Amino acid sequence: MATIFDKIINKEIPAEIVFEDDLCLAFRDIAPQAPCHILLIPKKPIESMATVENSDKEILGHLMLKASEIAKDQGLSEEGFRLVANTNQYGGQSVYHLHFHILGGRQMTWPPG
Ligand code: AMP
Repeated sequence: MATIFDKIINKEIPAEIVFEDDLCLAFRDIAPQAPCHILLIPKKPIESMATVENSDKEILGHLMLKASEIAKDQGLSEEGFRLVANTNQYGGQSVYHLHFHILGGRQMTWPPG
């Protein structure tokens, strides 16, 4: 099912894009929960971490490497950052297009709410 993130991928609605390649897109979250809050998504419409398949191995690896690169580019690596994939209802997922939150610029706490 199409989500608002498909519209961002297709440039039908604006977003503050910080990185893009053939496989993925990273843009600033519209409601930031930290000084730096970026969403990293595959262009392929995978619903969530609950629905990934063996054939997604390459894109998942690509996303993890890009998350690390983006965090570094944003100056988050040294102090640290959090990488989160809220999944389904209990995970607090609201948009059903796989996305990794890259959060940084403040001290995170544990356990999460
Ligand atoms: P989640 O709740 O984990 O599914 O995360 C969805 C995220 O998408 C939330 O942090 C929203 O603030 C963010 N979001 C929703 N619509 C937009 C948009 N148009 N541009 C940027 N971020 C968005």
